[in-house]
Amino acid sequence: MQCIDIHTHQVPAGSGKLFILNRFPDNHLPELTPGGFFSVGLHPWYIGDTKDVKLQLGLLGKMVSLDGIIAIGECGLDKACKSDWPLQLEAFLWQCDLAENLNKPVILHCVRAWNDMYHLHRRKNPRVPWILHGYDANVMVTSQLLQLGFYFSFGKALLDEDSNARKSLLLVPPEKIFLETDEENLPIQNIYEKASELMDIKMSTLAEQIEWNFRQVFVRQ
Ligand SMILES: [Zn+2]
Repeated sequence: MQCIDIHTHQVPAGSGKLFILNRFPDNHLPELTPGGFFSVGLHPWYIGDTKDVKLQLGLLGKMVSLDGIIAIGECGLDKACKSDWPLQLEAFLWQCDLAENLNKPVILHCVRAWNDMYHLHRRKNPRVPWILHGYDANVMVTSQLLQLGFYFSFGKALLDEDSNARKSLLLVPPEKIFLETDEENLPIQNIYEKASELMDIKMSTLAEQIEWNFRQVFVRQ
């Protein structure tokens, strides 16, 4: 059974795992074990000033042609951080256009900006999938985003008893679900175990479903 981790900041222990390692704009990519892929994006926390944005997006534009990059992100919007809002929007929209041009899915970071995210998706109507990572928004938000065709990646919030993520997970159709460890130093299997228990399906069934989702979203070319 394969437990795919679609968003992590560290290479998981053990070999033969399928995962997407997140990187920020940089000059190089680390060497990866087989099964490893990359996503690269400018995170809203690290936007900096206008000059930094230009520099980092320039770097990103060059990096995307490197082998193994199968998604743009994490990128997105964060109203809880200090980064300049107009610059956040500019960087995010630039990366959405890049993803469209490259025909690669986008891995999204979104904090307290659900309304903006919703309207930007409606306005841009992207042909590439948009995947909300570390998803923990309430069921009202979830039902609205579902109508637009978003994908949802759940992580450590599933381990918290009263999380929004737990309730939202049950609302999302299985073909729109991904799972991740993000910055947590725990085996992805723990997240699969909890998700399958909450969804009341076998862990192997869930793993097969997510493998199918992975092929639909990340290996479309
Ligand atoms: Zn992350």
